Amino acid sequence: MDIDTGRIADFARRIRKDIVEMVYLAKDGHPGPALSITDIVATLYDSVLRIDPGNPRWDGRDRLILSKGHSCTAVYSALARKGYFSPSILPELRALGSILQGHPVMDKTPGIDMTSGSLGNGLSIGVGMALASAYTKKGFDVFVITGDGELQEGIVWEGALSAAKYRLGRLIVFVDRNGWQSGSTCDEVGGRCPILPRFEAFGWHCQEIDGHDIRAIASAVEAARKETGRPSAIIADTVKGKGVPFMENDNSWHKRVPTKEQYEEAMSVLSERAT
Ligand SMILES: [Mg+2]
Repeated sequence: MDIDTGRIADFARRIRKDIVEMVYLAKDGHPGPALSITDIVATLYDSVLRIDPGNPRWDGRDRLILSKGHSCTAVYSALARKGYFSPSILPELRALGSILQGHPVMDKTPGIDMTSGSLGNGLSIGVGMALASAYTKKGFDVFVITGDGELQEGIVWEGALSAAKYRLGRLIVFVDRNGWQSGSTCDEVGGRCPILPRFEAFGWHCQEIDGHDIRAIASAVEAARKETGRPSAIIADTVKGKGVPFMENDNSWHKRVPTKEQYEEAMSVLSERAT
């Protein structure tokens, strides 16, 4: 895949600034888990997804389901910067009546393919969409971004079994393996259970990558798209809060609002360096 890593890195930095600013202005939101998926989101929207921002409901478009819906600021920023709606709307995050609710709502926000927030549902919904792609012969791919914590939900594995049974080669699932969930580490809450062997046992094509390496993200998608007879899991190692040093791996930033000083520090750091 021909990609411009410099352009995507700039896009990711723009998204990170939007995430911090949206949460700061809204005085509510989830910066840590949005920052961990930012490089994946930037790569998908820049170079991977076959989409038309001028026609959000084009029925041949690739679908993206953000199963970890609380990370929606990353996707809202990407959608705005791609032209689905004006970036001037971003400060309306979580406002009453806004198109940018605290979790994604498909009938409110142009470019949002699925309502989410109730954790665990995204992969199973992706199975339905990938079946539709096969049955209608429209040939679109279905991408799901799931957290590692939500893999504790049983419906994930019902979906994983169905996806393999129906040989859903157009289903590509990113697991944002940041090691944390709302309450603590995933291991502490749910017990240690390696992710890749689980997907492999269900018959999936599996890859492990650095979820902040843009070229690795694009290459993994390319390999997944070549797997036409089975679903793909891309297990991406990420850092919660990535890009803002005082938020990195500090789980208090799962849902927390920066002070004015912290906001200014974050924006300064994100302006200075590539992430
Ligand atoms: Mg997590």
